[in-house]
Amino acid sequence: MPERVYNFSPGPATLPYEVLQQAAKDIVNFQDSGIGLIEISHRSKQFMAVIEEAEQLLRELMDIPANYKVLFLQGGASSQFFMIPMNLLGDGKKATYLNTGVWSKKAIKEANQFGQIEIAYSSEEAKFNRVPAPGEYVVADDSEYLYFVSNNTIYGTQFPEMPKSEKMLIADMSSDILSRKLDVSKFGLIFAGAQKNLGPAGVTLVIIREDLLERTPKNVPTMLSYKTHADNGSMFNTPPTFSIYIVAQVLKWLKAQGGVDGMEKINREKAEMLYNAIDSTDYYRGHAEPGSRSMMNVSFNLPTADLEKKFIAEAAAVGLDGLKGHRSIGGCRASIYNAFPREGVVKLVEFMKEFQAKNP
Ligand code: PMP
Repeated sequence: MPERVYNFSPGPATLPYEVLQQAAKDIVNFQDSGIGLIEISHRSKQFMAVIEEAEQLLRELMDIPANYKVLFLQGGASSQFFMIPMNLLGDGKKATYLNTGVWSKKAIKEANQFGQIEIAYSSEEAKFNRVPAPGEYVVADDSEYLYFVSNNTIYGTQFPEMPKSEKMLIADMSSDILSRKLDVSKFGLIFAGAQKNLGPAGVTLVIIREDLLERTPKNVPTMLSYKTHADNGSMFNTPPTFSIYIVAQVLKWLKAQGGVDGMEKINREKAEMLYNAIDSTDYYRGHAEPGSRSMMNVSFNLPTADLEKKFIAEAAAVGLDGLKGHRSIGGCRASIYNAFPREGVVKLVEFMKEFQAKNP
């Protein structure tokens, strides 16, 4: 694939090449129907088979218990920031949030409009360079749920183990879903925007425990109630057909990589290579504390902002694209999601060594 570069973008992010190739064909003529993938009715036999396959593969790969619904929604992961409290805290109940970055802050802001929100932990003063260890926060007794962001895309921090609580867990897994083993039964709700580990932008995955569907207050608009989408198999209105099709293809690809276990092994190996390169010199400095390091987003700094600029530009010139850090913390960030090839990480590590030698 000579025309492609290594794309370290944080999202939308790199997708498996074979998925893109298949999609390019299907867009013009889907399964010899004479109709393109993005032209077929969402109620056609062909599309119904796609959405069913996406759900079945997810259930299989994530081992989702039967009493959970799988929903394909729109409005981005950001809409879940208000849908969750709107549906689950509607009458002013309490919930506990862990503040580990911009995405949890945004979720807290929305939740405050619906319930009583307790922030049990915040790493904001340390520029969100860590996530809490198990004993570092207390979940209020009368909380409905404990909300957290499993992987903090911007800072490159990730909960090494999922938080444990007697209360149900709710997690934003937008940037690490399907990257490692997970016990879904500990969660009330899991959500993820697709554009990192699942597919293109435009669809948001929600996995919700069935009994929670009955909690929605009466005044919640129809489109914003989880029950509406659960009762209609994510077909209450026109779903994002193209995005869901890609999700199904990505899941097939993931299964062929050895499923979540296989993926986790590859992810650990890729992240380790990069962190070893960072730790082997004082030239590169990781943003995240070692115990909170993400396998998906590796944020790091160089000695000066000028060197960082040069690093990002010269890397792009040799086919290592998208290494600029988020504007809120600056520096560099390598996003190495499931579909990011191992060879790209090898190439980046080589480039880091060369760059340091040339720019001491
Ligand atoms: N949560 C996390 C962890 C994210 O990384 C992002 C986007 N990068 C969002 C939420 C927001 O997603 P969306 O743009 O789909 O609303």
